[in-house]
Amino acid sequence: MPFLSQTSVPDIENPCELSLVIPAFNEGRNLGPLIDRVVPLLDTLSKDWELVFVDDGSSDDTLAWIAAAHQKDARIRGVSFSRNFGKEIAIAAGLDAARGDAVVIMDADLQHPPEMIEKFMELWREGYDVVYGQRVDRHTDSLFRRLFTSIFYHAFATFGETPLPDGAGDFRLLDRKAVNALRSMGERARFSKGLYAWVGFKSIGIPFDVADRAEGSSKFSLRRLLHFALDGITSFSTVPLRLWTYIGALISGLALLMAIQVVVSTLVYGSDVPGYATLLVSITFFAGIQMLSLGIIGEYIGRIFAEVKRRPLYIIGDLIGFERPTALKPKSRKPKAGGKA
Ligand code: UDP
Ligand code: MG
Repeated sequence: MPFLSQTSVPDIENPCELSLVIPAFNEGRNLGPLIDRVVPLLDTLSKDWELVFVDDGSSDDTLAWIAAAHQKDARIRGVSFSRNFGKEIAIAAGLDAARGDAVVIMDADLQHPPEMIEKFMELWREGYDVVYGQRVDRHTDSLFRRLFTSIFYHAFATFGETPLPDGAGDFRLLDRKAVNALRSMGERARFSKGLYAWVGFKSIGIPFDVADRAEGSSKFSLRRLLHFALDGITSFSTVPLRLWTYIGALISGLALLMAIQVVVSTLVYGSDVPGYATLLVSITFFAGIQMLSLGIIGEYIGRIFAEVKRRPLYIIGDLIGFERPTALKPKSRKPKAGGKA
């Protein structure tokens, strides 16, 4: 396959057996312990592995750690973004860069126990295309986040057109088939959990306990979570749009009943003027409803706009351990052979 663009990672020729893809945003303090723990493990799992870090525009020494690790072990490589694009996009870049027949995605903060990869590989060798870690409990999340997550997943289950398996996240193994399917999905608003479910394939979940974050704190603020939740719902459901058809029909029906009642009572009792309060309440109520429905339509239009711009998914600042695409190499200044200098 040719390069998608100068900004995407080059397509890789020599496949390997296992790729471990790790998105990292300001995880400098975690990378040392992570690499120390993961490299010996990978050695026992496969003769032919690689470790692909995606540095998601970190402002700390994440990139330096990746470069140093590559110096020591050429199987460790990195893609570094020009700025922070978010975890979902970092995963997409990791899948673009990975050469493995099996690709495992894992967080950099050691919340995902690397030892699980062994079970992932076993099941993959038994013929599963997707093996995902299933969080059994969420004690490592704050109470507020748990509440938010639970509301979101209920909403997604009600509105979403793709059912999500319980507790499934990004910690998973994907067979090459699934990786290629995911790479073919060019959408910009990426809700990976939904995409994994959407592509299907023979899947199995393994329960695991999420460990505490090794160093630092979660990169997901309330604003990010909210945005992520909206991306999730809007990418996988048009129910919020369709809902307004039903609400509109219901309100019109009620309005018709009210009209009949007003006409009849005017005919029977004659006309009088009270009703100021009813009028005011219904005007403000319906103004609110209309704003809300416009807002929801706006959410979709905004996302359509983002899609039609067809910007690249991410911009690469640096590649570590990858052959750069020739288009990115500085132009040679040598005069052409035989030409006049
Ligand atoms: N991450 C990323 N880009 C971001 C935010 C997070 O690549 O903009 C990475 C982060 O470095 C970590 C993983 O995504 O490896 C999970 O992030 P975090 O631990 O903050 O999320 P949580 O565990 O709270 O869901
Ligand atoms: Mg984490």
